[in-house]
Amino acid sequence: MNAVARLAALREEALACTACRLAETRTKVVFGVGDPQADLMFIGEAPGRNEDLQGEPFVGAAGKLLTRLLAEIGLDRSEVYIANVVKCRPPGNRDPRPDEIDACKPFLRGQLELVDPRVVVTLGNFATKLLLRTETGITRLRGHTYRWWRGKTLIPTYHPAAALRGGDRVLAAMREDFALVRQTLDAPPEPPPEPEVHPDPEPAVPRQLGLFG
Ligand code: SF4
Repeated sequence: MNAVARLAALREEALACTACRLAETRTKVVFGVGDPQADLMFIGEAPGRNEDLQGEPFVGAAGKLLTRLLAEIGLDRSEVYIANVVKCRPPGNRDPRPDEIDACKPFLRGQLELVDPRVVVTLGNFATKLLLRTETGITRLRGHTYRWWRGKTLIPTYHPAAALRGGDRVLAAMREDFALVRQTLDAPPEPPPEPEVHPDPEPAVPRQLGLFG
């Protein structure tokens, strides 16, 4: 089976998953959408209310903003892959709990392995801190590229919902981050990973980065 077929099989597995308590309260499993061979993958925290109802990540106003920011760097939503750390909505939009993240991790890992993007963009504080294994907040982490798991480049940015709430300052920062995404995609592929991964003299993230944990 090739990677595209294996991703489709993984999706089917997720749609029937009851491995954590979120299965009890979800409407639909929100596995992920987009090009199964994309160079660019977005990872958010968890489905919200609209996503839970529609079974697709980043719909509604936040999704529209994401689509618009992509268009500004010359990309259609269908050319990227979009997923969340957990595939079912936590009740009341609370943060996913550690055991839920662990239970759902094989799906995200599978998506990363099978889509195999060169660039991963984390959307928001939660996904960024989890994937970079740091307590440093998004405001300090964004604006940089990080050499991440299996040689991928990780670029953190705000969650589009934060831009909708936070106004021009957050939106301007997101535009800068998307420009960095464009620049990174346009650059030739990087050589094999070096041990040094962080641009700051005082590292905000561990020097050895796993998927998370
Ligand atoms: S959140 Fe993930 S692990 Fe939990 S039920 Fe949904 S698909 Fe399964």
